[in-house]
Amino acid sequence: MQVVFVGGASSVGASCLAIQLAEQWIVVDAGVRVDRKSDPLPDLSLLEGKDVQAIFVTHAHADHIGALPLLHQAFPTAPIFASRGTSLLMEVMLADALKIMTRRAVEEMELPLYPETLVAGMLTQVRPIPVGESFTLPVLPGITIQTSRAGHIAGAVSLGFTAPDGSIVVSGDISSTPQRTVIVHHPKWITVMYLCSNQPMERGFIPIDKLKKRAWHRLSPMVSLKEDTH
Ligand SMILES: [Zn+2]
Repeated sequence: MQVVFVGGASSVGASCLAIQLAEQWIVVDAGVRVDRKSDPLPDLSLLEGKDVQAIFVTHAHADHIGALPLLHQAFPTAPIFASRGTSLLMEVMLADALKIMTRRAVEEMELPLYPETLVAGMLTQVRPIPVGESFTLPVLPGITIQTSRAGHIAGAVSLGFTAPDGSIVVSGDISSTPQRTVIVHHPKWITVMYLCSNQPMERGFIPIDKLKKRAWHRLSPMVSLKEDTH
């Protein structure tokens, strides 16, 4: 198993994680940085030479989906798997992003990150996945996927991937505080360690008992690694 932080990691935003499991590459999320002083995009050049078979989306916030059209451009045949709620929200959020980019192009001469046609093409690759279930996908032989509600926003999920060469959980953003539209869900499958990837101060492996003492609902996204011991 290999894990590459294409975005996120020690900086905030532009979450994008590439994972090699069962000799296949998958990518989870491709967001933008909303802080306009920094490069908005994850370093997609880190994916060069990797045959990405599938893309997964944890939830529809811009820092997790804003660069998806460019990821789709790089891997146009890769299906994009998301919960139904996330699929619907993505359409709205990306349409909104296009409007903002058009306005900034006119008012501030800022180059848009991508055209409307690329977003439309990307959306045709979106496939629904069940929430709260384990399942396999024909495109990813040897990998079992498990989804769990993450709270946070409508459609948000944590994703678990299990293969003969290892297992990994990508929590996405988790919210443990009640909201008007989203029921709180505490993740059930927290294992031994977390790698908190968007809080520079907290980068690194954090034992779960230590993590629980912190405001972990604000730590996001997190990755839990569990190496196969066979
Ligand atoms: Zn979020």
